[in-house]
Amino acid sequence: MTQVADQAVYKDDSQLRQKRMIAEHFARLARVPQSGEKAVYTFVPGNLTELLQSFDLLPVLPEINALQSGMRGKSKEYIQLAEKLGHSEDVCTYVKCDVGMLRSGNVGPTGERLPAPDLLLLSYTGCFTFMKWFEILRQEYGCPAVMLHVPYQGSGHVTAAMRDYVVAQLRRKVIPALERISGRRYDEERLKQCLERSARAEDDLVWVLESARQRPSPIDAWFGAVYYVGPIFSAFRGSQDAVDYYRELRAEVEQRLAAGLGPVTPDGVLERERYRLVIEGPPNWTSFRRFWKMFSDEGAVAVASTYTKVGGTYDRGFRHDPARPLESLADYCMGCYTNLDLPTRVDLLVRYVEEYQADGLLVNSVKSCNSFSAGQLSMMREVEARTGRPVAFIESDLVDPRYFSAANIKNRLESYFQMIEHRRKGPS
Ligand code: SF4
Repeated sequence: MTQVADQAVYKDDSQLRQKRMIAEHFARLARVPQSGEKAVYTFVPGNLTELLQSFDLLPVLPEINALQSGMRGKSKEYIQLAEKLGHSEDVCTYVKCDVGMLRSGNVGPTGERLPAPDLLLLSYTGCFTFMKWFEILRQEYGCPAVMLHVPYQGSGHVTAAMRDYVVAQLRRKVIPALERISGRRYDEERLKQCLERSARAEDDLVWVLESARQRPSPIDAWFGAVYYVGPIFSAFRGSQDAVDYYRELRAEVEQRLAAGLGPVTPDGVLERERYRLVIEGPPNWTSFRRFWKMFSDEGAVAVASTYTKVGGTYDRGFRHDPARPLESLADYCMGCYTNLDLPTRVDLLVRYVEEYQADGLLVNSVKSCNSFSAGQLSMMREVEARTGRPVAFIESDLVDPRYFSAANIKNRLESYFQMIEHRRKGPS
């Protein structure tokens, strides 16, 4: 394992590999006008990346573009432009960031122009905003759209009827749309090969996430893990690149574990783990490293998080399965975190607090996201009652820097860490 300082930030080999993969993907997207390849815009939860790959179609993930714009300091101007165009302050800021980027020339995170979509593929998992977002893009681009309706897991499990419903849509609507766009016939053998590679990458990802059960945890399962889930959440699941990336990442984490090292933070390896937290909700992207430092400066490590499950709950046992290709795509879509009902989310959080020996649960409530925020306060109360461990609440936003108050967050974190210390001492 080597670590290099990249703009004074430590990066592992796996992170550098990921950076290269992403750069190559965006370069390929920028070459679309010359290459004639086709681009399909789709969302992270419930994405059908393997199916797109089997047709040689290029996925574009608008949420990833928005979060990257946030990390690169571009989101504020994009959001303000979208608001000037009439999008209300209450609209999810990912949407406004994307609309602002589109109206500013559609230049993606690497500085290269993104191709217009040949198709909008809407896998509707748990968020109404997705539907409105693609309605806007369909108007802007005048391109075709196809919707995969994914039933919400309202009763906490997937029934055979739900699975059949999704598979029937894949066969009758989604696959024919992909055949039309790509000019190719559906090739199930090719899809199976992609799914087999997905399952291998998923095995390694789960191993990495579960390494956080150890003390000290060799990873940060929220800040650090957003890099780890990047390839599997976006354009790479099902590719050999993803298999290689997760194998390399796992080897790095194995070495850190064997050496008794903590996670790599913006300031290098964490020296002392003082607090182990389970975190619910997405991070803030506009002040990502500053936000992370507020935790790492205090020795606070995320040992499990729900955000890293929005693109699949692989640690609940799900794997893409080449033996049941369309059925396993259906199960994948229905199993994403924000498609789970609240009691199932609470069960998962309780399991995380207990199995990862966490000091407590911290909720980052983001203003934009109803899909995450709904029910968080009652979820907190229930987790506290069932685990007996302290819970706390902070607020920020995904990509709107106007909603990131460093002083408020720092104060609340300090009070929370004091509360944990107090609990450790026991009744006086
Ligand atoms: S509301 Fe939440 S889940 Fe929906 S698009 Fe916005 S960030 Fe994503």
